[in-house]
Amino acid sequence: MQHRFYFIHLKRSLDMTDEVDLASQSEEEFRQYSLSRHQAYALPINGRCYNCEESTSGNFCCVECREDWEKRKYFERQKKVD
Ligand SMILES: [Zn+2]
Repeated sequence: MQHRFYFIHLKRSLDMTDEVDLASQSEEEFRQYSLSRHQAYALPINGRCYNCEESTSGNFCCVECREDWEKRKYFERQKKVD
């Protein structure tokens, strides 16, 4: 009886640890994602579109260019990880 109780107690604490790990992992992922998003918008303004190099007052001449560039950056980062 004593052994059985101990096993259940151990199993419960293991489950709780798993839950905590999962929560902190997704929180870290989200933090990394927000950070990369922030960096994409904190680029120095050089008067030209980062995607097609057309003259513009911001980092990109249009939304399409910004999305294109962000996608390319994202894939470049994925490649580096591998
Ligand atoms: Zn452009």
